[in-house]
Amino acid sequence: HETQTTCWDHPKMTDLFQSLADLNNVRFSAYRTAIKIRRLQKALCLDLLDLNTTSEVFKQHKLSQNDQLIGVQDVIGCLTTIYSGLEEKHKDMVNVPLCVDMCLNWLLNVYDSGRTGKIRVQSLKIGLMSLSKGLLEEKYRYLFKEVAGPTEMCDQRQLGLLLHDAIQIPRQLGEVAAFGGSNIEPSVRSCFQQNHNKPEITVKQFIDWMRLEPQSMVWLPVLHRVAAAETAKHQAKCNICKECPIVGFRYRSLKHFNYDVCQSCFFSGRTAKGHKLHYPMVEYCIPVSTKKYFAKHPRLGYLPVQTVLEGDNLETSLQIEYEQLKEQHLRRGINPLASPPDCVVSPQHASEDAELIAEAKLLRQHKGRLEARMQILEDHNKQLESQLHRLRQLLEQ
Ligand SMILES: [Zn+2]
Repeated sequence: HETQTTCWDHPKMTDLFQSLADLNNVRFSAYRTAIKIRRLQKALCLDLLDLNTTSEVFKQHKLSQNDQLIGVQDVIGCLTTIYSGLEEKHKDMVNVPLCVDMCLNWLLNVYDSGRTGKIRVQSLKIGLMSLSKGLLEEKYRYLFKEVAGPTEMCDQRQLGLLLHDAIQIPRQLGEVAAFGGSNIEPSVRSCFQQNHNKPEITVKQFIDWMRLEPQSMVWLPVLHRVAAAETAKHQAKCNICKECPIVGFRYRSLKHFNYDVCQSCFFSGRTAKGHKLHYPMVEYCIPVSTKKYFAKHPRLGYLPVQTVLEGDNLETSLQIEYEQLKEQHLRRGINPLASPPDCVVSPQHASEDAELIAEAKLLRQHKGRLEARMQILEDHNKQLESQLHRLRQLLEQ
């Protein structure tokens, strides 16, 4: 692997990336990306690598200066230690030279798009840790620890560096657009806003924020759910292709009783029995009874992409609603003026007026809420526009 060509364009990796195109028919970006990353993770045998081992290897190779650059030979040294360790445990699955070559190829494609032959130490760490095996929150903890200072706190710049390195993984697969583009500023801002704009956050605050599955990072928790669902068998039948038991993710309708869909039908957007695509569904990645599942995971399992899809509809419906309310409001405002000023107010009229006043008050409150919501959407729109502007600038360069 001394020549540049082998480093960047390993034939096995080229084949792998081409095979990922099959997944482009998966409708939801978070799943599509996560399934692609899962395939990559397995091809690189990183699904066998414990987070703890990864961290130990970094220590062993004295990779403590995150800001420093590391050359190809040192990356190879580190990867050789990792894969030799894996070979001891999984003889038939790990071919050390092939894995080292492929993983090096992946790292360079992700973190050295300028082909300088060097990557940042932190990028190497974030990349390998993101794809290692372990519990999700444990992974968040390790990632945070990598970028945090000696006080185990993280400021905006450090969080930005972490998110930047992480988002390069979907970016390399051409999947960055769905996660807010390569601009991680809005994510950093949202994390610190949630923590009252304090200058630094703790690991707990970071994990609490990650639990909300922020748009830029949602592919990571989904990757863990994809892995968990692989071996899941659910005692249910797919209403569309009749697969029984359902293997993988199982989706259950919240609108229709006893309506289950398997993952391949769900991802390709097939429906039956007048079930609409936008109806809310619950996702199960492990086979448990509905009751137990909700007791254990009160929030987990809803589609991470649902909010995005709803957001689009919400914006239009809110605008229509807002226009209607404004019109009603105006009409109400004009009516009293239109009535003759000397008309005697009967008791019946008085009670009608009171009702109208109460209703107008409610409408005003509702309008206030809608206006606040519009403001949020407008801000979001501005952010998107600035991202678009930046992308255009990049294209022009
Ligand atoms: Zn099916």
